[in-house]
Amino acid sequence: MSTPAYRIGLGHDTHRLGPNRALILGGVRIEHDRGLLGHSDADIVLHAITDALLGALALGDIGELFPDTDPANKDTDSRVFLNKALQLVRARGWSPVNIDCTIHAQRPKLASHKPTIRQSLANLLDLPLDAVSVKAKTGEHVGPIGREEAMSADAVVLLSRELKVES
Ligand code: MG
Repeated sequence: MSTPAYRIGLGHDTHRLGPNRALILGGVRIEHDRGLLGHSDADIVLHAITDALLGALALGDIGELFPDTDPANKDTDSRVFLNKALQLVRARGWSPVNIDCTIHAQRPKLASHKPTIRQSLANLLDLPLDAVSVKAKTGEHVGPIGREEAMSADAVVLLSRELKVES
């Protein structure tokens, strides 16, 4: 006999905004006059989801797996980080059930980009669309988000696995 077991994970990430950088959110390139600064491609959405996946199984965090002091991680496509975290999760017999994310950005307006980001995350995580939620918030013109100094992202992920139980 088996019974489902569940784990939940939480992730958060912030990067500063700057000129002459591509803005990439959830693996999608978004037209904007600024981009997120970072050692990798600075995709806050994928970084938050990667940390949520690692957190669900207490496997550390993205900084431990991919130190920003390692030249190998420079300008890395963050899908590499996400795929590594997924590999670690699946190797232990767990799979994502659903994810929920919030992106905090004053500009650009993300309403028209949310469906594309959602589809991108569904593809990357191999999840049905109705198991992937992408929400967006402005910073109400206050704080580092509102002043367009930074963007951030939050993510929660639920994992499940079938556990054998004595009948
Ligand atoms: Mg990051």
